[in-house]
Amino acid sequence: MDSIVIGGGMVGVATALALQERGRNVLLLDRRRPGQETSYGNAGIIQAEAVAPYAIPLAFDRLLRIAAGRAHDVAWNLRGMPSWLAPVLGYFWHSLPPNYRRIVPEYARMILRATDDHARLITAASADDLIARRGFIQAYRDAASLEAAVAEADAENRAFGVPSIALDAAGLAKAEPTLRVPMTGAIHFTSPWSCRDPGELVSRYARLFIERGGCIETANAQSLARSGGGWTVQTSAGTHDAPDVVVALGPWTPQFLAPLGYRIPMVLKRGYHLHLAGEAEPLQPFMDVANATVISPMNRGVRVLTGAELNRLDANSNLRQIRHATMVAKTLFPLGEAVESQPWRGARPCMPEMLPVIGPASRHQGLWFNFGHGHQGFTLGPTTAQMLADAMVGASPVAALAAFARY
Ligand SMILES: Cc1cc2nc3c(=O)[nH]c(=O)nc-3n(C[C@H](O)[C@H](O)[C@H](O)COP(=O)(O)OP(=O)(O)OC[C@H]3O[C@@H](n4cnc5c(N)ncnc54)[C@H](O)[C@@H]3O)c2cc1C
Repeated sequence: MDSIVIGGGMVGVATALALQERGRNVLLLDRRRPGQETSYGNAGIIQAEAVAPYAIPLAFDRLLRIAAGRAHDVAWNLRGMPSWLAPVLGYFWHSLPPNYRRIVPEYARMILRATDDHARLITAASADDLIARRGFIQAYRDAASLEAAVAEADAENRAFGVPSIALDAAGLAKAEPTLRVPMTGAIHFTSPWSCRDPGELVSRYARLFIERGGCIETANAQSLARSGGGWTVQTSAGTHDAPDVVVALGPWTPQFLAPLGYRIPMVLKRGYHLHLAGEAEPLQPFMDVANATVISPMNRGVRVLTGAELNRLDANSNLRQIRHATMVAKTLFPLGEAVESQPWRGARPCMPEMLPVIGPASRHQGLWFNFGHGHQGFTLGPTTAQMLADAMVGASPVAALAAFARY
């Protein structure tokens, strides 16, 4: 075995494929089947429009609403505060304009190649039936917010060529004929793609990896130790040795790396979804921005998703946001009852610097990182996989990852 990839979400599976394409013999480890966790529960949008990562809002009135617990986009839990306060303060610092301005071009470079990087895999994995190419609508309820969004979309178009169409109320009603509530208008970003079953897409990529000779083991990775010139991974099923190990454990990365002395300040933005039976689903993923509610048509039903909740990874669910989002979605579209008894919960693995961590570990040779993809890991998995794999096999200099190899 040349390389072991630990974590079989979108990021880990894409990394295994990218290393395999570069001639490596790869073992992929996950405690579940690939694509059953965060990479399953997301909105399924391959977000070609998201050239600017989500910063913490700096407007005083928005911060006040968040602090007062009245915001829909960000909720927080006091008891969980010791786990999130320090990373969130770091996130706030990086959201300040001079710092944020330096992050956006690095982020945009990855986002702008994401659909191309998926396209190759979608074709090779015969997964086109899961993909729609109709864009992503972000809708607004007041003129001032719409005006600000139009200005921002124009700026992103000028700087990065992100295509979008500004819709007034009538244009939006035409673009989404089953929308039941008049809204002020929307931005229709036309370049994003969407997936009707994100977990299944990861699963098809994993099948491609196996068809090409890769090996997947379903086992819990318990520890990682240096051995000889390489690494030994202890799993619930046995041990594996390889010269190179990649950690791609999404939200579980900090706890896995702690015994090796790495303190990873991850902001775990928990999120929820619920599938509703749809009499008529939206034609493309739809976001009611004021209510931080995303409504995404899926094979299983219409998936309704929430904003972020700051809390410990494993703390009990708080259903306030998903109840609100479900109520909003049912008002907007003719949707029926939930098709499952409990909402799904996961966590966006966000880094304070808003860039994923990609590259060699700072303190151990042969240990490589690919985690912290935040709000856009489903989009960026294949792209950061290519970036990391190139550095691992020496096809591009490790120095090219300077902005990403931070821990
Ligand atoms: C509500 C919500 C909506 C989102 N919407 C979008 C979207 O529309 N577009 C987008 O691009 N992104 C979206 N995201 C973000 C995206 O889902 C994540 O960034 C991405 O899935 C992270 O992928 P990953 O492979 O790093 O992590 P994961 O998919 O979580 O994979 C980590 C894997 O590690 C495994 N694992 C954990 N511990 C161990 C262990 N000890 N041993 C073995 N295996 C282990 C888990 O089983 C899991 O399979 C959303 C996220 C949320 C929560």
